[in-house]
Amino acid sequence: MDQQDMRTLRAALEALPRECRYHGANTEPHDGLIRREACCDTGVPAHRRKAAEEALARLSG
Ligand SMILES: [Zn+2]
Repeated sequence: MDQQDMRTLRAALEALPRECRYHGANTEPHDGLIRREACCDTGVPAHRRKAAEEALARLSG
């Protein structure tokens, strides 16, 4: 991947919170009646950041 593209994506990820205000680093969704994307609504950006960082790591090899 182009280095400038990589820096652009990383900068965007840096804008997302690293942790959920209520659940910290544990942003995995809980099992329940309603399937959620993350631990709670507040944790969604942190959970997406985690997933995106993993995807970026795979892309950059
Ligand atoms: Zn949460």
